[in-house]
Amino acid sequence: MGAHFHCGEVLSRRRRIQRVVETGHIQAFHLIHPYWPEHTRVIPRQHTASLLVLIPDNNSLVLEGLSVTRMVVGKAAANNGECHVLTNLGHHQDSRHLHRLVSSD
Ligand SMILES: [Zn+2]
Repeated sequence: MGAHFHCGEVLSRRRRIQRVVETGHIQAFHLIHPYWPEHTRVIPRQHTASLLVLIPDNNSLVLEGLSVTRMVVGKAAANNGECHVLTNLGHHQDSRHLHRLVSSD
């Protein structure tokens, strides 16, 4: 999933995807090619380089992201009884949108 996929395909609605939760600043959607049976990505609409460089002014964005993640986790746990929440940092972050992955196998 490249750096421009989220803006160019997901947030622009050019690509048909299954959206799970949408708020003013956050989008959660099922991955098109999931690795796990439950595989949802939670992204901010704005570019956020890394959890390591979040500025204090973004606390509301962090809380909104956590709130959406909690909703996604609630659905995943209800369906599967368990799940994982993963956030990549540094060179492992493969997108301009700091994101969380919710998965269960
Ligand atoms: Zn983008």
